[in-house]
Amino acid sequence: MTKRAYNFNAGPAALPLEVLERAQAEFVDFRGTGMSIMEMSHRGKVYEEVHNEAQSRLLSLLGNPSGYKVLFLQGGASTQFAMVPMNFLTAGKTGSYVLTGSWASKAEKEARLIGETHIAASSENNKFMSIPDLRSIEIPDNAAYLHVTSNETIEGSQYQQYPDTGSVPLIADMSSDILCREFDVNQFDFIYAGAQKNLGPSGVTVVIAREELLAESPKHIPTMLRFSTHAANNSLYNTPPSFSVYMVNEVLKWIEEQGSLAGVEKINREKAGLIYDTIDSSEGFYRGPVEAGSRSIMNITFRLPSEELEKQFIKESEQEGFVGLKGHRSVGGLRASIYNAVPYENVKALADFMNHFQKNHG
Ligand SMILES: *Cc1c(COP(=O)(O)O)cnc(C)c1O
Repeated sequence: MTKRAYNFNAGPAALPLEVLERAQAEFVDFRGTGMSIMEMSHRGKVYEEVHNEAQSRLLSLLGNPSGYKVLFLQGGASTQFAMVPMNFLTAGKTGSYVLTGSWASKAEKEARLIGETHIAASSENNKFMSIPDLRSIEIPDNAAYLHVTSNETIEGSQYQQYPDTGSVPLIADMSSDILCREFDVNQFDFIYAGAQKNLGPSGVTVVIAREELLAESPKHIPTMLRFSTHAANNSLYNTPPSFSVYMVNEVLKWIEEQGSLAGVEKINREKAGLIYDTIDSSEGFYRGPVEAGSRSIMNITFRLPSEELEKQFIKESEQEGFVGLKGHRSVGGLRASIYNAVPYENVKALADFMNHFQKNHG
């Protein structure tokens, strides 16, 4: 048997073993072509089938919402921080942002390079340890959109519900929690996600958006940065990241096999419950800094009584085969990223390790 790490990396992150094995099996000779998927034209029938399959499979997992299109872009979610305002933040309008942590703040900062922005709500004075009360969100009349970050990967917070923005488009960065649970796509006008956390490998950024938002983009921005270019050309205007798109399609198949979004959500809640219960029943040895109503089921952040013990925790966990438990350098502490592909058994092993560590050091 192949040795697999207990992988809790934040991104790039664990992929389902079944997907890796399937990719391995068809790596050298894809569907009888005598070539790998990476070696063939993106204009050919074989690749295009995979490309279209990935799009329709994603929409199908989301309940086939009407009027939505899927794009496969490059440049990561970070490029979307710029493309969103370049395409939508037109003169006289303001880009409205909810600040919930590091990623939301980066998105807003980037938009400021393009146009006027507005902070609709912020939990910064709570050190981003909660999602702001949705009732506190203020959207100006001239808002081009409201931008939210559904899951803050670094701080470990997540929206439990989304704001109703009326006629103002709701845009979401779902990089670290897309497809982790059931949700109603119709609440959103534009969703984007770098694939490398919950959808596949790095290299492709997935967009799910209302077709009318993609129909026309300002002509003064570069061709490659217009959503309309990619929408009009089925994301084949230039060479797509074909291997990454293929892998996304395989991950989507795997999600279907888990019982689709309802299936993965059930397992994700059980997994998150294991770690949060361990924290909450540790009598203060472990401390979850994020407010209970804003806790993420994808990225669980926690602290120990001292930084010394946190270092010791990381050292001993690595000796036991755990990877990626160090918190982001900007916030410190510990973080377990338990994306869809992280198996229940691995999360159980972490909970056991945490209990064991507390017995030895508590
Ligand atoms: C990782 C991450 C990003 C950045 O993604 P890149 O693909 O590296 O640009 C943006 N937003 C969120 C919420 C993330 O987790």
